[in-house]
Amino acid sequence: MFLVLAKLMTTSHQMPVFSPLPVAFARGQGASLWDVNGRKYLDALAGIAVCGLGHAHPRITSALCDQAAKLLHTSNWYEVPLQAQLADELCSLAGMDNVFFCNSGAEANEAAIKLARLYGHQRKILTPGIIVTEGSFHGRTLATLSATGNRKIQAGFEPLVQGFYRVPYNDAASVAQVGERNQDVVAVLVEPITGEGGIVVPDAGYLRELRRICDERGWLLMFDEIQTGMGRTGRWFACQHEGVTPDVMTLAKGLGNGVPIGACLARGTAAGVFQAGNHGSTFSGNPLVCRVALEVLDILRSEQLDRRAAELGTRMLDGLRQELASVPGVKDIRGKGLMLAVELDRPCKELMRLALDAGLLINVTSERVVRLLPPLIISDAEADEIVRMVGWLTRDFLASAPARGAAS
Ligand code: PLP
Repeated sequence: MFLVLAKLMTTSHQMPVFSPLPVAFARGQGASLWDVNGRKYLDALAGIAVCGLGHAHPRITSALCDQAAKLLHTSNWYEVPLQAQLADELCSLAGMDNVFFCNSGAEANEAAIKLARLYGHQRKILTPGIIVTEGSFHGRTLATLSATGNRKIQAGFEPLVQGFYRVPYNDAASVAQVGERNQDVVAVLVEPITGEGGIVVPDAGYLRELRRICDERGWLLMFDEIQTGMGRTGRWFACQHEGVTPDVMTLAKGLGNGVPIGACLARGTAAGVFQAGNHGSTFSGNPLVCRVALEVLDILRSEQLDRRAAELGTRMLDGLRQELASVPGVKDIRGKGLMLAVELDRPCKELMRLALDAGLLINVTSERVVRLLPPLIISDAEADEIVRMVGWLTRDFLASAPARGAAS
């Protein structure tokens, strides 16, 4: 009854763009959440790869409170030393030269897209094009949904932003071919591992080959690390698994552990594209979000959570394979670090609610892919518990749900 009331109260004047599960959380601690009725849940989603340090991390809470008591916002009409410090630290971690801060992933990609277009215009290309991939997700603003490789996200919002060429993911040869046919290409934008598109890990060498193609043609290589960044895949940034540095990198999600911050990083020529007046945002890199993001970086670094994510990822992947590899209906089990997927042969959104009923938070993306993005601070025991629960929930689901529309 209380839950129903809470739901009515929280949704009545909200635009119905989300369809939340019937639960409201009152507090969190580490990888645990408690709902308004005091029931405990194990969080294997971390707010969709946002709360890498878990909930109510004492150092984040104290940085947030300390900064809130000093200064929240001044605007970029004045210098913001915390922003400069955050930019320095991010650049040194990512091998980049400068940063534009914003408030979300979509805004970070929007900045990257604008940067690529301006780069083109500075080279006298009047209709600069950007190569993007099928199955990608880059955000919900007009430009980023146009870049996104999912018709469902675009439908109804036509006319889309022009200037994107789409190629299959994990197919560098197609990227080169599009470039041969179109002289106006200036950049390639890809996720190093797709997130919303079902945790597709490309073949080793794909990112390196993209780097080579871009170098040969003077294109900008732009990596959307919004979901893969900040230690999640076992390195600070997923492109580091292949030793590839892009010209432009976008970040958000785990950078703020829950405070809204995005970042568009640039290197080399790309770092000289934006000049005063080319781009901006009122909230861009205000003292509060920068202070928290600096604390996030410090915790990730001092606790070596990238390494821990790699270790936990191997443990969980092995565990999931033991639990599910031979189960009929399970098509694939994959991932890198703490970005893990169990792909089924049938739609399985229902599993999110079944898991919730069992006290576990998971996600289903691309209709058939169970996605796990737990906080990087989970214990071995919590990792094992997630694996065990996903194992029995998936087996039960497959045994009871007809393989409607199952791929042959
Ligand atoms: N890019 C990627 C790879 C994402 O996973 C997301 C969000 O899921 C976005 C961009 C958009 O970020 P936001 O929802 O913060 O706008």
